[in-house]
Amino acid sequence: MKSIFILTGAGISAESGIQTFRGSDGLWEGHRLEDVASPGGFHRDPTMVYSFYNVRRAKIRDAIPNAAHSALARLERDFPGTVTLVTQNIDDLHERAGSRQVVHMHGEAMKARCLKCQAISLCETTLDETNRCPACGTVGTLRPHIVWFGEIPLFLEEIDHALTQADLFVAIGTSGVVYPAAGFAELAARHGIRTIEINPASTEISPHFDEHLRGPATEKVPAWVDGILSATSV
Ligand code: NAD
Ligand code: ZN
Repeated sequence: MKSIFILTGAGISAESGIQTFRGSDGLWEGHRLEDVASPGGFHRDPTMVYSFYNVRRAKIRDAIPNAAHSALARLERDFPGTVTLVTQNIDDLHERAGSRQVVHMHGEAMKARCLKCQAISLCETTLDETNRCPACGTVGTLRPHIVWFGEIPLFLEEIDHALTQADLFVAIGTSGVVYPAAGFAELAARHGIRTIEINPASTEISPHFDEHLRGPATEKVPAWVDGILSATSV
């Protein structure tokens, strides 16, 4: 095996204390998705949306990467082939665990994007209408660098290329309802790529996987990484 493609979702950060997207009530941290995760919601009430992400950012800053994040960093470092890590998460726990190449297909909470010049800048504390874009100097044009519903995810070409070249596809802690990521397992299966799902629960996309590791990410991911690295060590 030469190439592993990993897709992570909110479930990998759950044991670090960051809530997953959809509670059983269909809300994100008590908010309707269309209010806090859509361009229309931002247009209607920017102050509320800025403040929602300011709170998310503070919670992410307080969270600590868990054993699953660390195991994936170890895999990237020690696996003799290629490891592609694509995440739907907006947190930076993969990076803080030591992963060096993380593809954030839904953007990053710790970054802002300028609506005027499109420049992406770091934003690790609070963002609101008073911030100035460090690239073009305009005040009030920065928005959270998050891909909202109705917007096109980032890096799709690179992702498609890496996925279709892989020998193994592993999805960790994702519910498989947000497209296009939800379609990756089916795409991998169509290309004859072996697929593994790591999740304590079954999901909409479970039928597309060859193997299911049922349990929390902090248990199942380190054990799976140990198995891969011992099988490839000489
Ligand atoms: P989701 O909330 O829809 O699904 C979470 C999945 O994780 C579920 O299938 C659940 O069974 C599983 N899970 C719960 N606890 C787990 C554990 N301990 N170990 C492993 N799996 C566990 O999440 P999703 O599929 O990633 O939804 C996509 C959207 O959520 C993305 O757009 C993303 O931006 C957003 N989001 C990100 C974060 C974050 O950055 N941490 C948090 C909330 C939402
Ligand atoms: Zn700008």
